[in-house]
Amino acid sequence: MDVVSPYKEVFKSKPRLVVRGPGRVNLLGEHVDYNGGPVLPAAIEQSVWIAADDSGSEQINIRALDLNEAVSFCLDDMGAKQDKKGHALPVWALYPAGVAWILKKNDLKIKGINAVFSSNIPMGSGLSSSAAIEVAFAVLWQTLGGWSCDRLKLAQLCQQAENQYVGVACGIMDQFATACGVKDHALYFDTRSLEWYPAPLPKGTVLVIADSGMRRSLTSSAYNDRRAACEEAVRLLQKYKPEMTCLRDISPQEFVAYGEYLPPLIRKRAEHVVKEIARVESAVNALEREDTRAIGALMFAGHVSLRDYYEVSIPELDCLVSLARSLPGCIGARLTGAGFGGCTINLVWAAQADEFIAGLEQGYREKTGRQAKVYVCHASEGTTILPVE
Ligand code: ADP
Ligand code: MG
Repeated sequence: MDVVSPYKEVFKSKPRLVVRGPGRVNLLGEHVDYNGGPVLPAAIEQSVWIAADDSGSEQINIRALDLNEAVSFCLDDMGAKQDKKGHALPVWALYPAGVAWILKKNDLKIKGINAVFSSNIPMGSGLSSSAAIEVAFAVLWQTLGGWSCDRLKLAQLCQQAENQYVGVACGIMDQFATACGVKDHALYFDTRSLEWYPAPLPKGTVLVIADSGMRRSLTSSAYNDRRAACEEAVRLLQKYKPEMTCLRDISPQEFVAYGEYLPPLIRKRAEHVVKEIARVESAVNALEREDTRAIGALMFAGHVSLRDYYEVSIPELDCLVSLARSLPGCIGARLTGAGFGGCTINLVWAAQADEFIAGLEQGYREKTGRQAKVYVCHASEGTTILPVE
């Protein structure tokens, strides 16, 4: 992605650096990051690219090339969420502004910048275009400021920016994955202890993303509603297990014993979380012994649980998963991201990927009259600083 030429056009000089921030997919472990559970994401090649330099002042001047919009705001006055003329910042600008705000709040030195950015991560489709932007801007300010901060800490700061400044109650997974990605690996990430390690993806397989074309909004009440259901489940289960603080603390066996004391809807939501956590543990073991069949079965089971217990799927995503299941080369398939639209992730034998993709696109067209965008993606390294040619 060329962001250097547009930078030169806008700012009439050469940028000092380019930062690439990848999107992410989650192989397994959906809606468990705010329940203290482990997740299994991978950073992908689809990314945001930022070209930037010091502005030489307190001004932050950013152009979103894909939207053809620009903002200028001042380092001194980020709390107001306004540009220098006093207009409310557009939503997209809240992501970089929120990062600047949180870095400053944590006494990390940040400078005024000139920046342009462009991304090929589809917006709002569950591949985390927002976290890619946040972490890439954080790495940008870190590099220009010359301070050190480990990637995990940077991811946490970006999550706080999204929670507190943008106002989206996201977990830590997205920022972690884009910050810490490892090429050809999924990342086992324990969202409670924050320990993580890379787990190799099976040789001869590729990840295939199928974008249903259906869009959702994460700020929607449904997401907050699911979080509230989980909190309620913890509160009720504490009666039987007082020391528990999140759904991570209850094993599937204990859930069999205590789950029946929960109201039916809360029970369904909690059951998804408790079993999904167990599926992630099984999947990472399966990755280590290259048991692709087991991984596939866990992915399919994860989808069924999101559909029937957590109820965050939609017919288009169910259609993509059921079509995938019958296509050549398919190992596993499930919706990825928060749900209510967006993408499915498929683990597919590389040799049959072309046939799989063609079959999925055709089947989806026939069943829904809609066009799915289906493409191979490779697990990639996390946010990187690239030399300017
Ligand atoms: P996602 O699942 O993709 O992270 P979000 O709703 O969390 O979805 O974030 C999408 C938002 O991020 C967009 O509404 C926009 O404000 C911002 N964004 C993402 N990609 C771009 C882009 N290429 N240019 C400008 N803003 C972007
Ligand atoms: Mg997001």
